[in-house]
Amino acid sequence: MVIFSEPKGLRDYLLAQRKEGKRIGFVPTMGALHNGHLSLVGKAKSSCDIAVVSIFVNPTQFNDSSDLEKYPRHVEADCDLLKSVDCDVVFLPKVEHIYPEGTKDTRTYDYGLLTSVMEAESRQGHFDGVITVVRKFLQMVAPDAAFFGQKDFQQLAIIRHMVRSEGIPTTIVSCEIIREKDGLAMSSRNERLSDEGRRISKLLSKCLFKVDELRLTKSIEEVQKWIEDQFDSEPLAKLEYFCVSDAQTLEPCSSWRDAFEMVCCIAVFVGEVRLIDNQIIKA
Ligand code: AMP
Repeated sequence: MVIFSEPKGLRDYLLAQRKEGKRIGFVPTMGALHNGHLSLVGKAKSSCDIAVVSIFVNPTQFNDSSDLEKYPRHVEADCDLLKSVDCDVVFLPKVEHIYPEGTKDTRTYDYGLLTSVMEAESRQGHFDGVITVVRKFLQMVAPDAAFFGQKDFQQLAIIRHMVRSEGIPTTIVSCEIIREKDGLAMSSRNERLSDEGRRISKLLSKCLFKVDELRLTKSIEEVQKWIEDQFDSEPLAKLEYFCVSDAQTLEPCSSWRDAFEMVCCIAVFVGEVRLIDNQIIKA
């Protein structure tokens, strides 16, 4: 496994690999790796010749400076994990490599509903930072395919849109959500949960998994109310949103027949830790 921090070193190495006809698969991450990330690396390894993983806590996508500060960082353990799954290349850039002009150098992006609902409403400027950094990485790595988790459903929809609208020749591959035994979606943020927070956090997936059954007898509005009630009885938890949307456009649905494929998305503060999860349902 080779490790680069300078974009130039990475570029030269990948150019040589490409000349040998190797297909490059790319997995961008913010580190504090878990099995969810490793499943993306596995996918990259199985469909490409070289798996490149970046670890970069992107400052421009944090709208809350304490969230950025507290974001878990353990690069050495991450590199050991990546080695254990036969990752080929790790890219560990510094902030100045990615933002030579400084981190105020971000554009804003308007992709209609994709960049205005759910996470966009709750985290002002978040997706501007995500789009900015992913564009930069896709330029530096120029991968044949890039692998993203369905865990960040809206992010995935936005990246697909960006790649399509800018004609970037990278295939975007969606990877299923990897969960703990009790259903909690794996996330780097889970390690910040207290014991009590960890117990409560099961409620996100429990609610999502129940929707398929509830929708047989309840309207979307009634299911929303049912979910609000579940969280109301947990003082440490604060439901930020639960919504049912068209999985393609993210347009909010008001009936279970509004779209063929819908996505139920949830965001909850458990103590200070903000967790998100989602589940696709078909009409
Ligand atoms: P992050 O390090 O949180 O920015 O995540 C890097 C990539 O891993 C993103 O594409 C995430 O959607 C994906 N990811 C994070 N958690 C999971 C999970 N539990 N299952 C599958 N993919 C995940």
